[in-house]
Amino acid sequence: MIHVPRCQFQQLERRLQRRLSKYGFIAQHIDPKNKEAIECSWKKFRKKDHLLCDKLYQMFHTRCAYCESETEQESGAIDHFWPKSPNSQNYQHGDPAKMFEWENLVWSCTICNGFSCKGSRMHWDILDHRHQPALGNPLLLNPCVEDPICYLEYDLEEIDTQGVLNHVSFCSVAPRDDLIDADLEKARYTIHLLRLNKRVNTLLHRRQDKISHLRRWINDLSRGVPANVQPPGGLTIAQYLTNFLSIQSPFLAPARQMLLDIHWSDNPPPGWARDLAVEWRKQGYQKIYDPLIQCIPSLANVMQDWCIPISR
Ligand SMILES: [Zn+2]
Repeated sequence: MIHVPRCQFQQLERRLQRRLSKYGFIAQHIDPKNKEAIECSWKKFRKKDHLLCDKLYQMFHTRCAYCESETEQESGAIDHFWPKSPNSQNYQHGDPAKMFEWENLVWSCTICNGFSCKGSRMHWDILDHRHQPALGNPLLLNPCVEDPICYLEYDLEEIDTQGVLNHVSFCSVAPRDDLIDADLEKARYTIHLLRLNKRVNTLLHRRQDKISHLRRWINDLSRGVPANVQPPGGLTIAQYLTNFLSIQSPFLAPARQMLLDIHWSDNPPPGWARDLAVEWRKQGYQKIYDPLIQCIPSLANVMQDWCIPISR
């Protein structure tokens, strides 16, 4: 999960603003217990909608906001962060009045949006004695509000100290170890609800592939690429790595963490990032890092855009 800044409602196309406002006004008068009316209203809106779908798909860079998988516009889903229909999974606290609120709409894959994952599940941080979210906020991290890098951290140790591959833990995600209790609860709940470590074939293995590749490429680049290693599709290494790290590319969160580990390698975390940093320093850190940035100018932008400004 990666932070995605949301544009203001007023910046949306006028026709979309009008449609959301009109349907939102009607939704405020739907009885929250009337699930059929809620679903009917949403289906009616979606039947003629392409503006909202286009906007969310672009804004979330074609990836699922929760698990960072790539999506197709036709087969992705619009998720209601605060569920629209009340049911037992959300303590009967879905809210049809939020059904057309711009800030409540999130682009997601069908798995995250589906029954086995988030779907219409939601828990709140404060519940009263009847389990109602009286004053509470959702426990799930909102990628448009919070920067997940402040809450979640990936295990980037591909090989353990015995030289054995960490098949299970490599690229798994965990709460950062410096969180206060309330943030820790949010991080844990997010990992649990979205099953970020449980979707082994569809998610974990694909994250592992990405980071494994990235690490190899950066290692090769920093040491001078062997002549027999060529990117697929006739691309140059710079083009390949640029695509690999573009904002549309899946699983940027662990990639971002890896680049940060390298970038901040004056005081590196334990493990391979430190080894790499030591190696780089031995050869002259700037000597390696500068050509890397020169070779891939977009890497400097990537670092600038989504690595450096961390608000914490
Ligand atoms: Zn997803």
